[in-house]
Parts: sequence; structure tokens; C-alpha cells
Amino acid sequence: MSSTTSNPTLANARIAVLGYGSQGRAHALNLRDSGLDVVVGLRKGGPSWERASAEGFTVAEPGEAVRGADLVAVLTPDMVQPALYKESIEPNIKAGAALLFAHGFNVHFKQIAPREDIDVILVAPKGPGALVRREYEIGRGVPSIWAIHQDVTGQAEAKAKAYADGIGGGRALLIKTDFKEETETDLFGEQAVLCGGASSLVQAGFETLVEAGYQPEIAYYEVLHELKLIVDLFYEGGIARMLEFVSETAQYGDYVSGPRVIDAGTKARMKDVLTDIQDGTFARNWIAEYQAGLPNYKRFKQADLEHPIEQVGAKLRARMSWLQAGAAKAAGEPLK
Ligand code: NDP
Ligand code: MG
Ligand code: MG
Repeated sequence: MSSTTSNPTLANARIAVLGYGSQGRAHALNLRDSGLDVVVGLRKGGPSWERASAEGFTVAEPGEAVRGADLVAVLTPDMVQPALYKESIEPNIKAGAALLFAHGFNVHFKQIAPREDIDVILVAPKGPGALVRREYEIGRGVPSIWAIHQDVTGQAEAKAKAYADGIGGGRALLIKTDFKEETETDLFGEQAVLCGGASSLVQAGFETLVEAGYQPEIAYYEVLHELKLIVDLFYEGGIARMLEFVSETAQYGDYVSGPRVIDAGTKARMKDVLTDIQDGTFARNWIAEYQAGLPNYKRFKQADLEHPIEQVGAKLRARMSWLQAGAAKAAGEPLK
């Protein structure tokens, strides 16, 4: 769906989107459909180059895309951004242009020290790229948070809001934050609850049932498949809505057993996770891990992929063909 944004701030601006992955592709497509001028910056020969070209974008090497751009959105993986900044952005970005991030990690943890003659802003959609695109296409948006690190033109706020409008975030809700708050809360959310907490909870629940002799297929449905129904209710109306829909028996079980699983000890460990984020321990470890060639990351990932719940899940999902098709169509990319 095409819907030219009514926000005039970036109407005559050239926007360089660096990266065409989860966020980059969604932002580039939404900005273009909002009537804005987008060029995509990528490494020549990488798999994304062909895809962005096939989807109708002018694609250039990052340095070339940055030259002449009024706004540069840095949407490559966080760990490649510092070198990308040094090599392609710093020497080429014009004075008074805006440098935009979707996550504050590198600025907050001082891996990138932006030039002093540019605006530095953040627009972080609170959802994966596939959803940023899908919501936009159906006329909605993903709530986004925005921040200003540096404002040399007096236009930084207007640019951030215009960008957020261009990707559809303004149709939902925009909340002002700062780089520190966005970085720390984003890392905490994905570690303790969304990715880390949820997947560990599901795996532990699956293992508990299977080790007790129940069928893995039934365990899969109970602890993974049905989670979507619960999360959809959370999303629509919070925990109250979930309580409206589940049986009295499920509610009673929730009240007496939930706190046995997630107890004060869990919360104390969540606080430790948050402390490691706040004091830079997590960032230091992650940067060192990346620089060492990701030895632990690869091992952990392999263990997740080889967990018995994945084999059962692949088998069951293959019987629910609409899941495969739906996921691929919604994402337009592998879900990650
Ligand atoms: P991806 O891992 O999806 O980015 C991959 C893209 O970056 C590919 O197009 C890839 O090109 C390109 N790329 C990789 N290295 C380089 C390079 N050296 N030069 C140019 N392009 C390169 O990133 P995400 O979308 O996950 O994350 C982007 C930013 O958005 C991050 O700051 C992240 O924290 C933030 N964010 C991410 C969210 C998400 O849902 N994923 C949610 C909110 C914020 P090629 O294919 O050619 O290698
Ligand atoms: Mg996040
Ligand atoms: Mg994140």
C-alpha cells in the first residue's frame, strides 16, 4: 500500500539505508512507499545487493550511498557498525546530515564517536523488521521510540519524527527516550524476557514433560505452539485479557504455580542481568566474543538448533503447511 507521508521534514531529503536485512529492508520499503527518496548502501557481491536491486532500489557501496545523503540509517548488524562508520560513513557524510540508528548500542557504549557536525538520532521500532513491513502494508505501524544524541541543525527532533512517520511508527505510537534508556531496556528485554527468558522457559517446560515420559509432540503443542495464543491475548489486552479467556482451572494453576517457577530468585538474577548491561559487562563480553570469531555464540546456537524440541517442531509444522507459507509470506525473508 502506498501512502505518501504528510510529514514534510524529509520530503526533499535523500535517505541512505545501510543494510537490507530485517530492519533495513522494512525501513527502505516503507520509506519508499511513504514517498521518500531512498538509496540502499551494501557491499557489492553480498546476497542483499541483488535482492534490493530486484526490489527496485538504487543500490550503491556504503560510502557512495552516504555521499550526498541527508539522512543515513545504519541498519547493519550492530557489531559491523563501528568499522562501517570509520570506513564509509565518517569520511563521506555531509555536514548537517543526520546519522540514524535503530539501536543505541554503539553510541551508548562508545564504539562509535560520531562526527560533531552531524545530527545523531535514533528511531527504534519495538518489533522485528518483518512486522514493521507487514503492519505498514495493512495501514498500521509498529510503536517506535526515538531519541536525540546530537542536534547540530536544530532539526534533529523533526527528522527523527519524520523518519518514524515514514516507516509507519507514527501511525502507532512514538515515545521519546534517550540512547542510554533504549540501549539498556532493549538489551534487557531481549535477554531476560523475549528471546532468552521465553526460549529457556519453553525448553525447560518441554524437557520436564518429555523426561516424565509424555509424548514429545504433545509437549511441543503445550509449551510452544500454544504460547502464541497466550501472547496474542497479552498483546491485545494485557494479562487481564488472558485471564478472561482461560478456564478457572488454568487461572488457579497460574496463581499458585507461576510464582513457584518464576520466583524471587529469578527476579534477583534478572537484576544481575540488568546490572551487567548497565555497567558495560555484557557489551564488553559481546564485543570480545565477536572479535574472537563467535566461538561461544556458534556453540550456543548449535545447541539451540539441535534441541529435541526443534526436531519435533519441524515435523509437526511440516503437517501445518499454512504455518510455513504464512511465515515466509509475512516475513519475505527467513524469520530470525
Ligand atoms: P541484519 O542482521 O538483518 O542485517 C543484515 C544486513 O546488513 C544485510 O543486508 C547485510 O548485507 C548487511 N551488512 C552486513 N554487513 C555489512 C557491511 N559490512 N556493510 C554493509 N552492509 C552490511 O540486521 P538487523 O536488521 O537485525 O539489525 C539492524 C539494526 O537494527 C541493529 O542496530 C539492530 O540492533 C537494530 N534492531 C533490530 C531489530 C530486529 O528485529 N532485527 C529490532 C530493532 C532494532 P549482506 O546480505 O550483503 O551481507
Ligand atoms: Mg528490541
Ligand atoms: Mg535488540
